[in-house]
Amino acid sequence: MPVTPSWNGKGKRKSDNMFKRDLPNGPDVWVLCDFDGTTSVRDVQNMLLDHFLGEDWRKIVQAALAQGKKSSEYMPRIYTDWRTTREEMIRVIDEKAQIDPYFPEFVAYCQQKGYHLEIVSDGLDIYINHLLAKEKLDFIPFTSNRLVFDNDKARIESPFQSDFCGLCGNCKKRRVLAARKADAQCVVYVGDGISDECPAAISDVVFAKDRLLAYCQEHHIPAQPFVDFSQVLEAFPRALDEYWVSVTK
Ligand SMILES: [Mg+2]
Ligand SMILES: [Zn+2]
Repeated sequence: MPVTPSWNGKGKRKSDNMFKRDLPNGPDVWVLCDFDGTTSVRDVQNMLLDHFLGEDWRKIVQAALAQGKKSSEYMPRIYTDWRTTREEMIRVIDEKAQIDPYFPEFVAYCQQKGYHLEIVSDGLDIYINHLLAKEKLDFIPFTSNRLVFDNDKARIESPFQSDFCGLCGNCKKRRVLAARKADAQCVVYVGDGISDECPAAISDVVFAKDRLLAYCQEHHIPAQPFVDFSQVLEAFPRALDEYWVSVTK
């Protein structure tokens, strides 16, 4: 279930704090999960870029990152009128992408505990919607960029772009701040990449792998390493207990 952006396309603003209405008492724990390479087994966005563009897009990304820039700078340049249809893209997604097999169990655990779980992605709505629906998990709210198809061409829109850092297509920091605003007592972040740096730095408990883990180590951000959601699930209760102890000392 994609989260409605703060504008509804008709120039009318909605509240930034989207979940307060749905969750009157506000859960104490918010779990924010990155999608690509975290909720999904592999990075679906990179896979699609490789499939449709060859590997040249990586040079554009590397050049931007070397200049200290991030996705808000390079994504609009990469997603310029891709010649493809929605059907073709779904076919490639079905062929090459899947959700972490342990993720549904983790979702069930969060539901049972009453934790609020959402996906925060700097990727694309098309595969997040499709892959979650396949697992009957499309009730999970998410924010992401959006792929728009026009005359068999695709382009990107970033409805959640904000000035928080000015670097990300969808700065995920925004959802950590939304959790604080909704009186969350603990914000847990699960991620693996560059777009997870902003939110991980201000979350309470972090599960990290790959590039995000290296970033956390480099910046002295405490983080629990994980490989897949079976490990997140296993380590979650203790990580939360340790956090409660640390804040009540
Ligand atoms: Mg990722
Ligand atoms: Zn950011």
